[in-house]
Amino acid sequence: MNTNQKLQFIGAGSAFSVQNFQSNAVLTAANGKRLLIDFGGYVPLSLAAAGLTIYDIDAIYGSHLHADHVGGGEYLALRTKFDPRFVDSNGAKRSLRLFMHSSIRAAFWQMLRNGCVLPGKKSELEDFFKVESCEDSFEWEGTRFTLVRTTHCMDGDQPMPCFGLTWNSGEKVIWFSSDTVFETDRVQHLMDGADVIFHDCETSPFPTGVHAHYKQLVTWPEEVKAKVHAYHYNDGDKPDCVKDGFAGWVNVGEVFEL
Ligand SMILES: [Zn+2]
Ligand SMILES: [Zn+2]
Repeated sequence: MNTNQKLQFIGAGSAFSVQNFQSNAVLTAANGKRLLIDFGGYVPLSLAAAGLTIYDIDAIYGSHLHADHVGGGEYLALRTKFDPRFVDSNGAKRSLRLFMHSSIRAAFWQMLRNGCVLPGKKSELEDFFKVESCEDSFEWEGTRFTLVRTTHCMDGDQPMPCFGLTWNSGEKVIWFSSDTVFETDRVQHLMDGADVIFHDCETSPFPTGVHAHYKQLVTWPEEVKAKVHAYHYNDGDKPDCVKDGFAGWVNVGEVFEL
């Protein structure tokens, strides 16, 4: 049984937020180990604001290659590589476990490559992280996480995917969307079957078209909206989402007992 998980949003803002950090979260397993779900460029600051440091993190998951989700990759790589105090419980040097869909790992390494150099060798991603198998799903601390592939935006005529997550915490089904356009066909089973939904929600009056916008999510059936905690919002005023039937806005630093 995977009970007593906690999910803390160390940020809940959009890519352009300067007030709410970035939409990254820390999942704490029942045994106390922590998985950092997405790690944008603000991650040193947002971890600190949440009372955490890099020493508290066991593993990281990157959902897609926007900077508000993986822009902290170079920091994490170098910070953990060169710190002799980054060790396991036996005092042995460790690396962060990295979960990321195999289709985007090479491009992720290209983002890091120029900064992550090592004397005397041609460096590779595995020099900095313990790269774990991650295709349709992965396992971490007794929990199986299933990747939810959605369309985030178009890259020319090709869809740029994002890989949200769904998993079970005890009897509950959790769905964490990460970044996705508003779509229902592909995620209908999660709209119906998830017990707790964390969904990105753009609030800008000038929609980018790469996120579910509040005006779209508000059209969901009442029984679905009642499960939705909305995050990845813009700085500034937001609608009264509880009045509109949602579970609520995710506050920066908020902890959910799953
Ligand atoms: Zn984002
Ligand atoms: Zn994105």
